[in-house]
Amino acid sequence: MSDLLHEKTPIRTRHIPPGQGQAVEMKTGQLLQIQTLQGKQVADFVAFTLGDSGEFVSTSATRSSNVNIIPQKGMTLYSNRRQPMFEIVEDTVGRHDMLFAACDPVRYEKLGVPGHASCRAALTESLGAYGIDFDRIPDPVNWFMNVSIQQRGELEVREPLAEAGDYVLLRALKDVVAAVSSCPQDHGPTNAEHPTDLRIRVYRDEPLPAEAEPAADPSPVEGEALAAGTEVSSTKPTAGERTAFASRPARLRDTAEATGMRGER
Ligand SMILES: [Zn+2]
Repeated sequence: MSDLLHEKTPIRTRHIPPGQGQAVEMKTGQLLQIQTLQGKQVADFVAFTLGDSGEFVSTSATRSSNVNIIPQKGMTLYSNRRQPMFEIVEDTVGRHDMLFAACDPVRYEKLGVPGHASCRAALTESLGAYGIDFDRIPDPVNWFMNVSIQQRGELEVREPLAEAGDYVLLRALKDVVAAVSSCPQDHGPTNAEHPTDLRIRVYRDEPLPAEAEPAADPSPVEGEALAAGTEVSSTKPTAGERTAFASRPARLRDTAEATGMRGER
C-alpha cells in the first residue's frame, strides 16, 4: 500500500477493460491512481481543465518544460498554455511514453483489422459529455508504454515493464476532467500481445492520519514492513515479514538502481 494512499478511501473507482475509456472529474489537490491489474498494459491518458476544454495536458509542453521525454516521478505535466496540470507523485514502474499518438481507427485499418477498438475512439466516447470530439483528443501520455529510443532516434516499442498492481499516482494542480483508456492494441508488444484491464481511482487530498502506535500483537503488519523500506533485507525477516515483502507493490522495492535495471531490460 502506498504511503500517500494509506488509509484513504477512493471517492471514485472505475474499472476499464481493453478498448474502453473512463473520464473522472478531479478537484485541485485530489489524487488519481492509474493501475494495471494484470500488468503489461498501457493506459492512454488525456486531461482538460474543467470548464475550459481549450486547455489540456500537452505532451510537447511537458517535454519542453521538463527537458525530458519520459514522464517520471516528481515531474509536472503542463498544459498547452504551459500551466501546471498534474504532478507525478508516485510511480512504481519508471518507464512510460509521451511520444506516441493514441492508437486510432486508421492505425488498425493499416494493420489489416478495420473496425478494431482504439484508444482514441474510447477517449472520445468517455469525454462525449464534455463536448470534446474525436478531432480534439490531444496526444496522450501513455502510462506503462515501454519505448526504447535508439541512437538515431528510431523508436522500438517493447513490452511494458509494469507488473500486476503497478501504478502511477498523479496530483491534480487544477480542477480537471481526466480520461484514461485501456489500450486494445493486440498486434505487437505494446500490451504484450494481450490487452488487460486497468483501474483508476480518485482520492481526496486529506492529511495523513496520525501514526498508529505499534500494536501489542507482535505479528508484523504490512504497514510496519513498509515503513522499514529497503532496510527489510538487512535483517533476518520472519515468515510474516517475508510474506508482507513479497506482496508489497513494486515501488517499495524500487531503489534508483532497480529502476535503472528495469529500464534497461
Ligand atoms: Zn491504444
